[in-house]
Amino acid sequence: MYDVAIIGGGPAGLSAALNIKIRNKSFVLFGGIEKVTGLTKAPQVDNYLGLPAMSGADMLDAFKKHAEHMDIEIKHEKVQNILNMGDYFALNTGANFYEAKTLILATGHAKAKYMPGEREYLGRGLGYCATCDGPLYRNKSVAIISENQEGEEEANYLSELCSEVYYIPIYKAEYKVNEKVKLIQEKAVEILGDENKTTALKTDKSELVVDGIFIVRNVIPMGQLLEGLEIEEGSIKVDKNMAASMPGVYACGDAVGKPYQIAKAVGEGTVAALSAVKYLDHLNTK
Ligand SMILES: Cc1cc2nc3c(=O)[nH]c(=O)nc-3n(C[C@H](O)[C@H](O)[C@H](O)COP(=O)(O)OP(=O)(O)OC[C@H]3O[C@@H](n4cnc5c(N)ncnc54)[C@H](O)[C@@H]3O)c2cc1C
Repeated sequence: MYDVAIIGGGPAGLSAALNIKIRNKSFVLFGGIEKVTGLTKAPQVDNYLGLPAMSGADMLDAFKKHAEHMDIEIKHEKVQNILNMGDYFALNTGANFYEAKTLILATGHAKAKYMPGEREYLGRGLGYCATCDGPLYRNKSVAIISENQEGEEEANYLSELCSEVYYIPIYKAEYKVNEKVKLIQEKAVEILGDENKTTALKTDKSELVVDGIFIVRNVIPMGQLLEGLEIEEGSIKVDKNMAASMPGVYACGDAVGKPYQIAKAVGEGTVAALSAVKYLDHLNTK
């Protein structure tokens, strides 16, 4: 069991990891599968003290080199789901399970809007992790809507189990799906179903009859990642110590709201880390 699980390998998560490391607590840091953060997209950053006129990608590189120098390892796994077990948290990345006494959520800004039908059919044929739920659809037909190339792996995996796999990418790339996967280059518009479960995916051009649908997003909506966490205007609600609405949970950076700025993310990562350390020290003296 780790003292802290940090979710997010951007400026907020790296800053939190650095401070947790310095305070000598055990931790695991998840950076997601795609090695992209909000920062990699910034063409030039002029407002970060000490590192003038740098591209976002170079700045993130500098941050990561600092982390490496401190022997901080980033696990390139995406946390799919977190369960609050009372006195610890269980994290599922699809491939592995982890346990931690506290959490620091630094997942960036979740821009995703729910698709029509998504909330209605969540858990009733609609899911976010094919690796976790794929076996439920053995010999059945499924569709995967994906914002990134991570979905290609999931589609290839499902093609080993399912009778039919449709892949609907929402990005442009050379799609590396095998011949059993049907590539559908149409716009997914609505998840359809009956009173019990999902039955089809409606696109702008057709209707795909399926038993299950998976949506692979860059950022999993926070309410789905950790159920019961208080969200305010799309961001995680925190106090000035970066404590979220559940004991032992801290959040920082773009995930907690505006302004979306690197300096704020780094500062809040530090505060979240120090608050988590204080909480752990308090646990140990109980
Ligand atoms: C085009 C552009 C230009 C910008 N220019 C500037 C600028 O000039 N100055 C400035 O101060 N700011 C700028 N920003 C904003 C800045 O990039 C963000 O404020 C900053 O990156 C926020 O850091 P963060 O760590 O909170 O989130 P992010 O950098 O978005 O990092 C989030 C991390 O969480 C990971 N993650 C998410 N979900 C999961 C999960 N379930 N499991 C595992 N990992 C997960 C992601 O993979 C990522 O590594 C710009 C942003 C953009 C898009």
